[in-house]
Amino acid sequence: MRFDVTILGCGAALPLPGRNPTAQVVNVHEKQFLLDCGEGTQMAMRHHKVRLMRIDHIAISHMHGDHYLGLPGLISTFSLFGREKDLHIYGPARLKEVLDLHQEVGESWLDFKVHFHPTTTDGPVVLFEDATVQLESFPVRHRIPTTGFILREKPKEPGIRKDWVKRFNLEPSEILTLKKGKDVVRADGTVIASSSACYPQLASRSYGYAADTNYWTPIAKSVAGVNLLYHEATFDDRLKARAKKTFHSTATQAAKIARDAEVGQLVLGHVSARYTSMEVHLKEAKAVFDATVMAKDGMVLSVPFM
Ligand SMILES: [Zn+2]
Repeated sequence: MRFDVTILGCGAALPLPGRNPTAQVVNVHEKQFLLDCGEGTQMAMRHHKVRLMRIDHIAISHMHGDHYLGLPGLISTFSLFGREKDLHIYGPARLKEVLDLHQEVGESWLDFKVHFHPTTTDGPVVLFEDATVQLESFPVRHRIPTTGFILREKPKEPGIRKDWVKRFNLEPSEILTLKKGKDVVRADGTVIASSSACYPQLASRSYGYAADTNYWTPIAKSVAGVNLLYHEATFDDRLKARAKKTFHSTATQAAKIARDAEVGQLVLGHVSARYTSMEVHLKEAKAVFDATVMAKDGMVLSVPFM
């Protein structure tokens, strides 16, 4: 089943050619979630062949322009394309005020319903879930209220072995019981073990996105064990003091979070425009957590099994 992340923008506050402001599309079993929507996101979607009309869920980490200024434009495009299906937006409460003001001043209207779900920095929250996927937010520490997000695959029921269905002439109700992990005990005393009758359950994968943040150890707890973690790395070690002052992180600090959270793989982004090369970031991070890559616009990362 598909579970991947397309980086639409890996840049920081100042956009650069090839380094758009932050945005990424996560495809979980063909359901698409847009995480942050910096300026230029809809053009990046077209460029990287992401079908924008298939986006029904947009989560915004915080109210700095490099993370949301693309949203009013994207909503306007949805409208121009004749969108009718509902759109769910998750983000700080004041994002709604900003979006409403755009509509009001422009005397615009939408032919689709926008459901706004305010986020909180009080603790982790499940924002959305269905049978296959769950979207959560968790607090990070930035200059203004900011959350990260986690997308998790829901546990999948294991498949039943056809040879066992035949061998025991299993009834549909018995198959359901076995698939739920419970053993079947028949009236004649026959015990059919779920672990034998079913194929091993596929592990569920998860993706964590730690948006603009200081080095803050509680994040390691929030993203513990995720298969893939995107963490910001605005600065290198040389500018550690600046990272602290501006509520950002260094590559080393991001790697420490990945190491302490025991994640599968780390991808670093949001590198300051002052760096033309990201080699120093990569080198510093790899010294702490080897399974690290640098984000690049257009990069598609499969969420790996661990
Ligand atoms: Zn930012």
